[in-house]
Amino acid sequence: MADRNRSYKADKMVELLAPKLTRQVVGSLLGCVHCGMCNEACHYVLTHPDDPKMTPSYKADQLRKIFKRHFDWTGRVFPRWVNAYPPVTDEDLEELKDIAFGTCTNCRRCTFNCPMGVDTATLNRIMRGLLTRVGVMPEGVRVVSKDTWEIGNQMGVLDEDYIETLEWISEELVDQVGGDEQAAIPVDKLDAEVVYTINPREAKYDPRTINNAALIFYAADENWTMPSWGWDQTNFGLFSGDDAMGAASWKHLEEKFKELRGKRLVISECGHGYRSTRCEGPNWSGTDQDFVMESSVVTMIRYIREGRIKVDKSKNSIPVTFHDSCNNARSCGFYEEPRELLNLVASDFREMHPNRTENYCCTGGGGAMSMSEYTPRRLKSARVKADQIAATGAKIVVTSCHNCVDGLTDVIRHYKLDCKVAQLVDLVAGALVLEECAVIRKKAAAKPEPGLPLQGRKILVVDDEDDARVFISTVLADAGATIIEATDGDQAIELAGKEKPDLITLDISMPGKDGVEVFRELRGSPDTAAMSICVVTGHPEFREVIYAAHAEKPDGYMNKPVSPEDLVTGVHRILELRDKKE
Ligand code: SF4
Ligand code: SF4
Repeated sequence: MADRNRSYKADKMVELLAPKLTRQVVGSLLGCVHCGMCNEACHYVLTHPDDPKMTPSYKADQLRKIFKRHFDWTGRVFPRWVNAYPPVTDEDLEELKDIAFGTCTNCRRCTFNCPMGVDTATLNRIMRGLLTRVGVMPEGVRVVSKDTWEIGNQMGVLDEDYIETLEWISEELVDQVGGDEQAAIPVDKLDAEVVYTINPREAKYDPRTINNAALIFYAADENWTMPSWGWDQTNFGLFSGDDAMGAASWKHLEEKFKELRGKRLVISECGHGYRSTRCEGPNWSGTDQDFVMESSVVTMIRYIREGRIKVDKSKNSIPVTFHDSCNNARSCGFYEEPRELLNLVASDFREMHPNRTENYCCTGGGGAMSMSEYTPRRLKSARVKADQIAATGAKIVVTSCHNCVDGLTDVIRHYKLDCKVAQLVDLVAGALVLEECAVIRKKAAAKPEPGLPLQGRKILVVDDEDDARVFISTVLADAGATIIEATDGDQAIELAGKEKPDLITLDISMPGKDGVEVFRELRGSPDTAAMSICVVTGHPEFREVIYAAHAEKPDGYMNKPVSPEDLVTGVHRILELRDKKE
């Protein structure tokens, strides 16, 4: 009778399991002694104390049954002794689906509390992968997987919508910084120092985080870009257990990064995105990781430490606490960097307890937010997290993970906590002292120094007498001008055409071509006709001569000896009048 109901899918799962039986996986399958020490580690057990099906060992035992029945001699010979009765019908697989997807967020807290080193979360992910490959999965997982395969990101954000979002964020940013076009987000810029990748949730639901990151890159005067495709650093393969999807998503990201010839791939704050991009993706795709990848948290710390951005932590004075994302913390050892940054940008940071490896899951992990059928159980299990948050007295829970933002927001709403959720990028942007950041410092340095009236002006000083020429040049240079000198008429005409000075001080009495001739030639040439010319002469009698030399008069006239003040004031005035005319 049993054979009549035997599921083809169950048989297929056995076949699919074989290549996944690495030494580490078999170690976890065989290592459990059912001591129960991990039970208290699991938020599902703590909130469902009377349900033995919530224990980590029960969940992992579902895979053990398949393994023992088909791959281990004990199960083949003595199935009853080792409980080697795996799923055989489609109904069994439905039950397995609810266990693998609905009672575990793959948070790995139990793993860190197992004296035998059993990695229950990995076993659960393998079970999810087997089920997914035979088409047994929650509807939400099916939809997200389809979007990932067909559209290229897990939230089905179309490339044109993504680009449009970046465009309007750019417009708002430019306005925010007083019209500086440099604040616009560069897309597909080649050879950038930073290629910034995001979670699609940011483009779809939380563009504020893109805005804040872009503001920080602008403030740091970073040479950065965002890709037009291949921008999703998240990877649903981690949650669904589908290694093929994990590999394809990672290759997408890698291909675009290499096409852009970027120097450093920066991953926005997302726990599973960081883990799958930096740690798992190259393994799933069998690729050597040959370029630099880092979390944006590390990037922001570097900007502060190097003085590229200036922050004022008193701008974030509301009490904050920090929630460790399971993927960032337990799976990647990313504990201290977020705290270092938080202490730099917030003045009242309170640790949540327990924390780091022992922190509890936000309950939205493992793709749980996409499986609405399990929401009531998830929210019941969230009581542990709600108690942790409430005990801190913080008004903001900071986390470096978009998944946790959604999970925690749900917890806060459900348990009516007086708190909101933010990410580090929001706090850093909020603490920026823009006027002291690299971009503004650079622009200020390029501006003329206040108090130097001729800063940025180029002046050609024409005089055959060394004393007079050096005097005029020195006075004008001290007033900020850039000086070029000519000692005779021919040289003056040549330099005027080549250097295009803002103004020429012109001596009249010179050997060879005198000032009158020089004046005439300059005014007669289309290249130099409009140049400002101030005659500086020791022969006042030439004034009438030169005034009669051309219909156009000189822009100024000074008799030697001229005082430094009169010289600077006169030249400055001529230039100001010219600026106004232009
Ligand atoms: S997984 Fe480890 S801690 Fe949990 S029951 Fe098995 S041996 Fe004990
Ligand atoms: S991985 Fe997390 S949710 Fe899953 S059984 Fe272990 S402690 Fe519980």
